[in-house]
Amino acid sequence: MAQEDVFKKIVSHCKEYGFVFPSSEIYDGLGAVYDYGQNGVELKNNIKQYWWQSMVLLHENIVGIDSAIFMHPTIWKASGHVDAFNDPLIDNRDSKKRYRADVLIEDQIAKYDEKIAKEVAKAAKKYGDAFNEEEFRTTNARVLEHQQKRDALHERYTQAMNAGPDLQELRQIILDEEIVCPISGTRNWTEVRQFNLMFSTEMGSTADGAMKVYLRPETAQGIFVNYLNVQKTGRMKIPFGIAQIGKAFRNEIVARQFIFRMREFEQMEMQFFVKPGTELEWFKQWKETRLRWHKALGFGDDHYRYHDHEKLAHYANAATDIEFLMPFGFKEVEGIHSRTNFDLSQHEKFSGKNIKYFDPETNESYTPYVIETSIGVDRMFLSIMCGSYCEEKLENGETRVVLKLPAALAPVKLAVLPLVKKDGLPEKAREIIDELKFHFNCQYDEKDSIGKRYRRQDAIGTPYCVTVDHDTLNDNCVTLRNRDTMQQERVPISELDHIIADRVSITSLLKTL
Ligand code: ATP
Repeated sequence: MAQEDVFKKIVSHCKEYGFVFPSSEIYDGLGAVYDYGQNGVELKNNIKQYWWQSMVLLHENIVGIDSAIFMHPTIWKASGHVDAFNDPLIDNRDSKKRYRADVLIEDQIAKYDEKIAKEVAKAAKKYGDAFNEEEFRTTNARVLEHQQKRDALHERYTQAMNAGPDLQELRQIILDEEIVCPISGTRNWTEVRQFNLMFSTEMGSTADGAMKVYLRPETAQGIFVNYLNVQKTGRMKIPFGIAQIGKAFRNEIVARQFIFRMREFEQMEMQFFVKPGTELEWFKQWKETRLRWHKALGFGDDHYRYHDHEKLAHYANAATDIEFLMPFGFKEVEGIHSRTNFDLSQHEKFSGKNIKYFDPETNESYTPYVIETSIGVDRMFLSIMCGSYCEEKLENGETRVVLKLPAALAPVKLAVLPLVKKDGLPEKAREIIDELKFHFNCQYDEKDSIGKRYRRQDAIGTPYCVTVDHDTLNDNCVTLRNRDTMQQERVPISELDHIIADRVSITSLLKTL
């Protein structure tokens, strides 16, 4: 199946099974804003818990906060967001569609990469075992031509972005590369303009002279402006970290790919404060720690890669993304940045307050350097959905749709199903739930055949189902079915808790880190 079709299926699966709904749907929706349904919210909460516990529970020197969405507007001056949190946009005059100029060019670079990959795949198929990829890449005329064009474009693009960006040059690149609007198919482009991504609103009544405030575009600044409060009240010693989960808002120009790029989304950020000079060592360590966190979910190591940034933000001295293989290619899920002392120094300058750290061991004061790990909850959610969605052909010729969610993240851990709706089986099933509901999320279902009920649970990723049958009333045993293997085993009710809890708990997942 084409990857595009897979993605469409995942999007409709999310809606059909109560994971994600378009916001304000009965009013035809609101661009790039989504709501999480009954299963979505559970999965999302589990992702947040997995992240929070891996940070705050497993590290003595990391604590959490929850700062407000509204902050003093000068914070966004100091952080550079008022002046520089812009995207270069361009419109197509025929389709009236708006695009990010940088994204159009990056897509064009990706097209050259795809062409090269296709040539390589074709040759690999043709030559079989005798194929030498390295030799092919360095000698094949067509590959060399694509590579040369790609590199030249990449170089030109990097220079344009580093020069401000140079908006005219970005437009010229789009024209020279003959990039067309995917909707109208024309090259009738406007000028490129800068567009600030922050949403603003007013605080206080207008009669009093209302103050323009912003909806935060990242949670990080709430950590920076509280860094000294936490350090002092928590008697934290450097190195230490502050973690936060919260909403962020960006007026994205082009909202694409479902919950990949939203206008209201959630971030999980951790800022780690270190001694100047040690930051690159810590950067390396956090890069590894974070990748381990992702890989522990079991989707396969080939689903992840680092993308080290060549073009660094002016305040960063190292940056990398962790990318996940979505149906539409490898995409950023998390950013890890070495932000130097830029943010704290800026806040010191703009607020006029001394926010230096006094190191009791060396008797010196300094502005700490910061390593940031920043991950979008929604993007993580999407990557998990993409990694889990599976259509399987069964021996009887039927197809089942199953979400192979990591058990610890699954919305429902156990479904309890009475074989029939009579003979005391429903009551027995309820008894089991009443016992287990304190330990994990259980669901009761008595409607339709057992087969159909299994399918419904497969579709929402429930790792275990138990069936209560007539024998259960005598032997106090149930049939336990595993979602992935579909194997069934007979187990005593008294052991259910012990068997399941361990396999579905976030604690067990954390222990694998
Ligand atoms: P992109 O290049 O995709 O716009 P970014 O580099 O601007 O992302 P950061 O500012 O580093 O992103 O934000 C950290 C994380 O927040 C990202 O890795 C992503 O998971 C998430 N994120 C950022 N913007 C959005 C958005 N519009 N919708 C959903 N998640 C987002």
